[in-house]
Amino acid sequence: LHNDVQDLKGNIRVFCRARPLLDSESQNIANFKFPKEIPFNRKISLMSTKTNYLGEKKEIFKEYQFDQVFDTFATQKDIFSEVAHIVQSVVDGYNGCIFAYGQTGAGKTYTMTGPTNATPETEGMIPRAVRLIYDIIQDLKTQCWRFTLEGQFIEIYNDNIRDLLVADPSSTNGVKHKTIHDERTGTTRISKATTVDLDCPNTLNQALKTAAHNRAVAATKCNAHSSRSHSVFMIRLRGTNDNSNETRIGSLNLIDLAGSERLSKSESKGDQLQEAKHINSSLSHLKTVIQGIKKDSCHINFRDSSLTWLLKNSLGGNAKVLMLVNISPLESLHYYVAWV
Ligand code: ADP
Ligand code: MG
Repeated sequence: LHNDVQDLKGNIRVFCRARPLLDSESQNIANFKFPKEIPFNRKISLMSTKTNYLGEKKEIFKEYQFDQVFDTFATQKDIFSEVAHIVQSVVDGYNGCIFAYGQTGAGKTYTMTGPTNATPETEGMIPRAVRLIYDIIQDLKTQCWRFTLEGQFIEIYNDNIRDLLVADPSSTNGVKHKTIHDERTGTTRISKATTVDLDCPNTLNQALKTAAHNRAVAATKCNAHSSRSHSVFMIRLRGTNDNSNETRIGSLNLIDLAGSERLSKSESKGDQLQEAKHINSSLSHLKTVIQGIKKDSCHINFRDSSLTWLLKNSLGGNAKVLMLVNISPLESLHYYVAWV
């Protein structure tokens, strides 16, 4: 039933999550009055600056409409309660994508993975989603369903795909560029990227650890590497029913996007300029593709960037898409002023 309801409402939803001010930050900001309560609502005004023709900077408020807005007190569990039905759909044989979008420092990685040393309360959407899948497929065993679950974890940096699950990232394997294959079954797959059987919570935890380690190694080579790349955790599920011989294939993609801060091409040089170009163009391709899907356009160029090509089958058609827009009180100190 939840799929029928979703089909009626359209398959792409956009949520906003405001992260709280951190203890370390509040000491540096004088007179920062944070409201005790912000009503859950669907509209939010965000402040940005605009330069007029005299070169003067002016603060402007722009109102955005979201399907749901989560205030700074929202917990990981609150966010997951909205993610859970996409996970359920995936077990039902649908494809889904959950994106975290926002500027660096806005809480994307916190939302998707959780903080380092996460507790059961603070862990992010990836471990929660996998655990829910385990629970659902455990229940379905009583109805003669058998499932296999596998995962790939990759990173897209300058439009190249890197494997985040290689045991030794310093070997060329990790840096060798992987390619996307369109399979006859209508799915996309990354050739030669490590695929792990997510058959128990331990293999999941091990995979997340390896990926975090590989990203940290990359970060020492390139400053702020993780905020310059998109990471995609891809889960594939295949179920067969021993009674009816029915099969179900679903995939869930959890994406931590590169920081959406506008990277100025004029101020960047060399590597940074390359990064800026790739991030700006892949995020704008993603936007174009999503707008195209919303308008039911028949010409959508998924292949224009690695990100949209890889996610092609999980964005269009019956796929369920959730975009979590993360905002931080630092990037626009006054964002809460004009909640409506
Ligand atoms: P991003 O991935 O968007 O660059 P992070 O997820 O790294 O941002 O978040 C920046 C900092 O804010 C981290 O220290 C993180 O632990 C903290 N943080 C983010 N969201 C929350 C939240 N909802 N509650 C508490 N701390 C948060
Ligand atoms: Mg991050």
